[in-house]
Amino acid sequence: MSESGCLFCKIVRAEIPSFKVYEDDRTFAFLDIRPVNEGHTLVVPKTHTLNIFDVSPEDWSAVTETVRKLSGTIEQALSASGINLMMNNREHAGQIVDHLHVHIIPRFTSDGLMHWPQHSYPAGEGEAAQKKILAAL
Ligand code: 5GP
Ligand code: ZN
Repeated sequence: MSESGCLFCKIVRAEIPSFKVYEDDRTFAFLDIRPVNEGHTLVVPKTHTLNIFDVSPEDWSAVTETVRKLSGTIEQALSASGINLMMNNREHAGQIVDHLHVHIIPRFTSDGLMHWPQHSYPAGEGEAAQKKILAAL
């Protein structure tokens, strides 16, 4: 998707309406149209960027700083009991909109949301995964 056809670029340029909650030189934040919980917010860089794999260090730094600031603001404003941060990168990981965004999801004590399932490493597989990552650095 090019910048001109990108949904979140259009939101940043106010060509599509959104409930904006924050804006600075590099970043823009607005309410998700289909929230997990009240106050579910998306933080995006203003520059069109696909995902974590092509974001510039400067934009990533700005996005994470906006996420840090807004997390505290949103938790307090909505009397939430915690915040989940979520980011989907590429289609298989659940990314639907191809413009980098971090989800800020306020949590409430009775919201019933579950975390994803986890498991233990079978013998030797933790070391094997570590070796693959270290070899790629
Ligand atoms: P993803 O699955 O790509 O991480 O999440 C995309 C998010 O964008 C979804 O949670 C979806 O509800 C939200 N979204 C999709 N279209 C719009 C829109 O037009 N406006 C707003 N505010 N959010 C949108
Ligand atoms: Zn875009």
